[in-house]
Amino acid sequence: MSAQLTSIIGPFKPTNYDLALDIDHTKKNFTGKAIISFTKSSSSLNTQSSHDNDPFKVTLNSSGLVILSATIAIPDTDKNNEKANIKYLNDLQRVELSFANLTQAQVLTSFQITIKYIGKINRINTFRDKTSGLFITNYSDMITGKASNTIMATQSQPCDSRSIFPCVDELAARASIQLTLTLSSTKFQALSSADMENEQVLENGKMLIKFKRTEQMVISLFSFVIGDLDFLEDEVTLPGASEAALGQKVPIKVYTLKGASQQARYALNVTKHFLPYLAAKLQQPYPATKLDLVGLPFLSNGAVENWGLVNVQQSILLVADENDAIAGNLRNKTRQLNQIIVHEIAHQWFGNLVSFDSWEHYWLNEALATFLAYVVVNEFDFANGGANTTNGNGNVAKYSNVDYQTIWTEQAISLESTFESDAAVVGDDGDDSGLSISQISNAVQNINVDGIDKTFDAASYEKAIHLLRMLMNVFENENGAGSKGQFDDSSDFFFKALGQLVEKYNHQAIKPVDYWVFLNDVLQKQNQDKNKDQSNKFNLTNFIVSWIKLPGFPIVSVSLTKEGLIKVEQHRYTIGQSTVNDNNKGKTNNHEDYIYHVPLAIRTTDGTVFNWMLTERSKIFTNEELPAAKFVKINANRTGYFKVNYESASFYETIGANLSKLSKLDIVGVLLDIESSIGNSEQQSKIAVDGFYQITKAITNEGNKAILSKNFEALEVVLRIAQYLGSAIQLTKPAGEFKQFKSNFLKPLAKQLFQNLDSWPVNYSDAKYKYSRAEIASRSAIIIIGVEDPDITNYAAKLFKHLNHGPKKSVARELVSAVLANFSYNCKDTKSFKKLLQDTTRSVEPCLANIDNLLDPESAMAVTELQSAAVSALGFTRDEQNFKKVLNYIATNIDSKGIELALVGFNYFEVDEQANNKSNKHKQMAWEWLQLHFDQWASRSLREGSEYSQQLFKTLQNLLITVFKTFDANEGSADQQAVQRFVNAKGTKFQAHKLEQLWKGQAASRARDMAAAELVAIGQWKL
Ligand SMILES: [Zn+2]
Repeated sequence: MSAQLTSIIGPFKPTNYDLALDIDHTKKNFTGKAIISFTKSSSSLNTQSSHDNDPFKVTLNSSGLVILSATIAIPDTDKNNEKANIKYLNDLQRVELSFANLTQAQVLTSFQITIKYIGKINRINTFRDKTSGLFITNYSDMITGKASNTIMATQSQPCDSRSIFPCVDELAARASIQLTLTLSSTKFQALSSADMENEQVLENGKMLIKFKRTEQMVISLFSFVIGDLDFLEDEVTLPGASEAALGQKVPIKVYTLKGASQQARYALNVTKHFLPYLAAKLQQPYPATKLDLVGLPFLSNGAVENWGLVNVQQSILLVADENDAIAGNLRNKTRQLNQIIVHEIAHQWFGNLVSFDSWEHYWLNEALATFLAYVVVNEFDFANGGANTTNGNGNVAKYSNVDYQTIWTEQAISLESTFESDAAVVGDDGDDSGLSISQISNAVQNINVDGIDKTFDAASYEKAIHLLRMLMNVFENENGAGSKGQFDDSSDFFFKALGQLVEKYNHQAIKPVDYWVFLNDVLQKQNQDKNKDQSNKFNLTNFIVSWIKLPGFPIVSVSLTKEGLIKVEQHRYTIGQSTVNDNNKGKTNNHEDYIYHVPLAIRTTDGTVFNWMLTERSKIFTNEELPAAKFVKINANRTGYFKVNYESASFYETIGANLSKLSKLDIVGVLLDIESSIGNSEQQSKIAVDGFYQITKAITNEGNKAILSKNFEALEVVLRIAQYLGSAIQLTKPAGEFKQFKSNFLKPLAKQLFQNLDSWPVNYSDAKYKYSRAEIASRSAIIIIGVEDPDITNYAAKLFKHLNHGPKKSVARELVSAVLANFSYNCKDTKSFKKLLQDTTRSVEPCLANIDNLLDPESAMAVTELQSAAVSALGFTRDEQNFKKVLNYIATNIDSKGIELALVGFNYFEVDEQANNKSNKHKQMAWEWLQLHFDQWASRSLREGSEYSQQLFKTLQNLLITVFKTFDANEGSADQQAVQRFVNAKGTKFQAHKLEQLWKGQAASRARDMAAAELVAIGQWKL
């Protein structure tokens, strides 16, 4: 990152830019004239300086511009055409103008600089070309196919205004801009952040377009677009509750490439519905005069929130068939588009009207826009014409078949990887893991050259979104009015307060703390008005700032005291060891066990939420505060950014018994916490594993069928944990124990779920019902776990047949891998297996037509993906002859990329002969086969400079890992000795393969599996 640059804002600030750009789309450059008005800020009006007699200097940002001339004019003086000496400071992307005949003392309150210059038009041909400054793309007409169309657009965020005109390119330097364009062609549409004032065709055939003057704005949000464009338009009237918002009319246009405007209808309608909805929630007028969305063929960011003119990647913006989208058939596509549109609309208030004063705060700018969009999309009912559906009290708001809580559930699931990186203690590898949001953002002092995406890493961004969600729920709870306070993502009070903040700080650049202080003031005032007890005053600022400043997050343990009272205790949750070294001193104190402000949000037996802000290490609840009998779980709806650990299995029994009172997110949250306990050796807990059993029993209970069918996200986690524990037991326990676990737990689990789930279509193209990602993933896992269940196998066989012979689109894409694996596992006849083998080598293209891309109809399954699925299925075969064929097949095709996938299934659900304590034939076969070929493959894999050998090297490493995994690593075991002999014999000759390390790595993962398997009460787990 470049060194920190000081601001170039001096006592004089630019207040207005008059820009006249002459753009010929056939040329590589454009010419420009910028008249910049500067005014002395009131605070520095009367200051005297020792430099008063020095020549007057002005510093501007400029990048890639050739300045032809620069002059200064001072109003009410004879200084009206003084020429500047021009000095480029290219490394700093600056130009310095100095005026030899003008002293600093002579410039009193204001001046104007006029600059004539030449700028670049950047040609964009592929997705790899970065769109910045003014850029141009040619495209062919969608109808005529002629490649004679042109589109030009600007991308200035974060710091590229300076490559379009000389300016003070800083967030704190707001100014108005008036743009005049001279265009070489009269056929172009031209649009900008402001409305058009007039246009005329000049005598030379060129077109002159003048736009109105904008408001005072962040100049990097100023934008214009020129080109061959079509559009759809409409207008909305905002229904806002305030005087100012009432009746405001906002014209909306969605621009597309020629011939594509009909595909903009969905985007137009979404915008038309969401804009008034958000304005009403904020109770604020829309800040710009209009809203244009433009679909660009190339754009390095998905979308950019320019003032009144949002640019979006065309592939995201266009929807071929709006009816398809509304019917919910394009779920992934429309979810992304809805989210992006609302995100960009939200930016018009948050980021544009009120902005941050430094790039270091842009984590909040982006997290806030994304968060607001999640809330709005989650609440909104597009299918029902935009009715404001309340989302509390279990009401279901449908949005394109998205159930209430789906977005937050998916968010909670993806948050697991954020938790994981946030649980790391700072290592010496220099990455951001283990740092707090403020530690990361403090490192961003200047992003002069780097992109906006460098201002924060993905994990801190996801964390920030979740902190905002926690903040909103706490805020609503502290307000405590009506049905609020249930930690159910109610948002009205919070949004209204944000609206008031926008009203207070409009057209200003502020800091995050201004948000927190403002929101805290709203709460305090509200509570004063209600004459609430002020003795235990909650401070929202302290609450949120502590979360931003502290690294990591807590785990809260819940236990019962001897007296039968509920006790909670928090500790920082960490994974791995601290690696303190000198470089890290002062960076963070690695293992410090912080105390966080934890909103416990306790779900009680009557389904309501009782909140307690835990700001100490631990707390025991008296019976008056919270009777233990009323306690069900903490972290209602998983609104808090923390994990929970219950210290006795009886808590999980209570949770299982109260499933019907819990929300989807409650159940998913408990399971995700259990899953991370099992994976984290430090936190590993027998009780969490017992808890898993309790909840799985409750979930598969016939009486809870209805809950199950609405909570596939929870089911997906259950199946994932079940598969993991199964494989841990299989790999580390005596065969008899695995057999017991399989017949007592895994098989009944698959069977019961198969029976309890409503329908198992044999033709997915006929299914009227829409499947969510989690549901289809759960169904896929059931087909895999159920490889030994006759009904499930029978079902998989039908789909296998349809995959090969049709009907068209009868098999869900997401089930293909599971269907193939199930078939392979059960296939005993050599002929059919041969067919499967052939599918992997021959063209599988005919099968593609029989696959329905349920979740993403716009991106079809590729041949290579289907081939990989087929290859991955091969190793699942239980038949000895077939397995021999698989090994031969791998050996014959050892040079093919990904061929090692053919072995992945080979240790899945071992054959019963092992259960009878005979040796595992497949393992033995694979081991002998590997030893037989190893020398030859290893030698070839080490030939220098050949791509083939690099490929083979990877393949061989993966094969070794897969085979080593099945060997017992216990000291002195026969397995351990066999592998050790092999490692010793080959290790020196083929050093690059690091055999010893590979084997040790498998031993470590085996130790984790062993520890997990140890926690399972194998004999007692009966479903
Ligand atoms: Zn954004």
